[in-house]
Amino acid sequence: MSTIFGKIIRREIPADIVYEDEQCLAFRDINPQAPTHVLIIPRKEISTLGDAGVGDRDLLGHLVLAAAKIACQLGVEKAFRLVINNGAEAGQSVFHLHLHLLAGRPFRWPPG
Ligand code: AMP
Repeated sequence: MSTIFGKIIRREIPADIVYEDEQCLAFRDINPQAPTHVLIIPRKEISTLGDAGVGDRDLLGHLVLAAAKIACQLGVEKAFRLVINNGAEAGQSVFHLHLHLLAGRPFRWPPG
């Protein structure tokens, strides 16, 4: 089922896009939790990481490598955090798989 991120992919609603290629799109989070907060999403509509299958292996690797590339592009490659919230109880609110790329402030461990 399509979500608001599907609308961003189809350019039906605007987004501050920082990177795109044939497999993914990255744009700034509308409610940033750090000075740099970018979402990396596959063009393919996968609801959650748990819904990804073996056939998505290359795509998942592509998303992680894209995140590292975007961190370089944005000048935050020395310190950044990647997060995937899987499921509502883990904080997922948009059911289109996405990686959060967060940087620009100290991060605690364990996360809240
Ligand atoms: P999650 O809670 O892990 O599902 O993350 C969803 C993220 O999408 C949240 O951080 C929201 O702030 C962000 N978000 C929701 N709608 C938009 C939008 N239209 N443009 C950019 N970010 C959005």
